[in-house]
Amino acid sequence: MPTQLRFPRRSFLGLLFLFSLSTSALYFIYSAPGIVNEYLFMVQARGIQIRENVRSIGAQVLEQMVRGAYSNVNGTDYAYDFNLSEPYVQTTTYLPEGFTYLPSQKCPERLPSMKGPVDVNMSEVTLEEVERSLLEGDPSLSAGGHWKPKDCIPRWKVAILVPFRNRHEHLPILLRHLVPTLQRQRLQFGFYVVEQAGDEPFNRAMLFNVGFQEAMKDLDWDCMVFHDVDHILENDRNYYGCGEMPRHFAIKLNKYSYMLPYNEFFGGVSGLTVEQFKRINGFPNAFWGWGGEDDDLWNRVQFAGYKVSRPPGDVGRYMSIPHHHRGEVQFLGRYSLLRRSKERQGLDGLNNLRYTPQVSRRPLYTNITVPLTRELAPVADY
Ligand code: BGC
Repeated sequence: MPTQLRFPRRSFLGLLFLFSLSTSALYFIYSAPGIVNEYLFMVQARGIQIRENVRSIGAQVLEQMVRGAYSNVNGTDYAYDFNLSEPYVQTTTYLPEGFTYLPSQKCPERLPSMKGPVDVNMSEVTLEEVERSLLEGDPSLSAGGHWKPKDCIPRWKVAILVPFRNRHEHLPILLRHLVPTLQRQRLQFGFYVVEQAGDEPFNRAMLFNVGFQEAMKDLDWDCMVFHDVDHILENDRNYYGCGEMPRHFAIKLNKYSYMLPYNEFFGGVSGLTVEQFKRINGFPNAFWGWGGEDDDLWNRVQFAGYKVSRPPGDVGRYMSIPHHHRGEVQFLGRYSLLRRSKERQGLDGLNNLRYTPQVSRRPLYTNITVPLTRELAPVADY
C-alpha cells in the first residue's frame, strides 16, 4: 500500500501562526519606524550602560587591590587616577552676573543669563496663550516671531526652520521654550514653519529646502537652524549660532537614553551657515517618508570637506514631546539613495527644486504651506 503524505494539523497551525507573527512584525517595522528605532537604540544604550558599569566596578575593585598592596609595602596611600567616566572638562567660562556690554558691541556668546538647565514643561497649551505670554514678556517680539537684541549687536541672524504636518499641539510647546532661550542667547531670530500639503509621504528634507529659499527672500539670514517640532532643548547653553563647521545640536535625546545612537547621527536639530548650506546644495529632495535624509545631509557635509561640531557634555540634551501619532512609514528606498549620495549631491537639492508656496505671517512664526510632489524635484539620470 502506498504511504500517503500527511501533514500534521498541528504543524500547519504552527506554521500559520509563525507566518502571521512575522508578517505583523514586518508591517509594524514598516509602519512605525520611529518607535522601532527608539526601541532598538534604547536596547543598545542599555547594553552600553551595563558594560560601563561592569567596567567601572572592575576598575574600583582593581584600585582597592592596588591601593591595599601598595600601602602594605610602602605604608603610604597610592595616588592614581582611575576615573574612567566620560572625559568632559568644562573649559568655557560664562560671564559673571551683572556684566555689562554696550549696544555698539557684539553680543557675548557666553552670557550670564544663560544658566544651563532649562525647566522643560511638556503640558499642552494653546498657541494663543503662548503668544500672549511671550508678547507680554517682551512686546518687541514682532510678526513672524522676529526679534533682535537692543543691548548689543547679535552675532548671528538665525532662521529657525520647522518642518510641519499635523502637529498643532507641539508647536506652542516648542515656541514656549525656544523663544525665551534665543532671547537669553542674544541672537537675532525668526521662525518659519514649513507645512506640507497634499497626500504624499512627509518629506522633511524638501520642506527644509523650501523653508531656506523662502526665509532668504524675507531677510539676509546668515545661519539656518533645522529644527524638529517635537525636540525641546534642555540646556540654554546650547548656543544656536552657527560656526566654521556645520553643527549638530541634538546629540543626546531622552528617547535614545541620552546617548548618541551612532557617530554619523545628524538628526533632530542641526545648523549650517547660509554659505555652508548653499555649498552642499542643501538637503536631498528624494527622501519621501521616514528616515535617511539626515544621513544624506551628513554625507554631503563630509563630501564638502566639513567636520560636524557638537556641544560638549550634557549641553546637547533634548526631550521629545510625548505623542500618540502613528508617524510616517519607512522610506525603504533610502539605503540605495544613500549608497549614491556623492553622485546625487550636485543633482538633487537646492538646484532642482520648484514649488509654489502660500506664505502668511503669524505673531510667532511665518507659515509657508506647500504642496509637495515628486515632479517638483526632477533628477537627471546619473
Ligand atoms: C535613520 C535616520 C534617523 C536615525 C535615528 C536612522 O536609521 O536613517 O533618519 O534619524 O535612524 O532615528
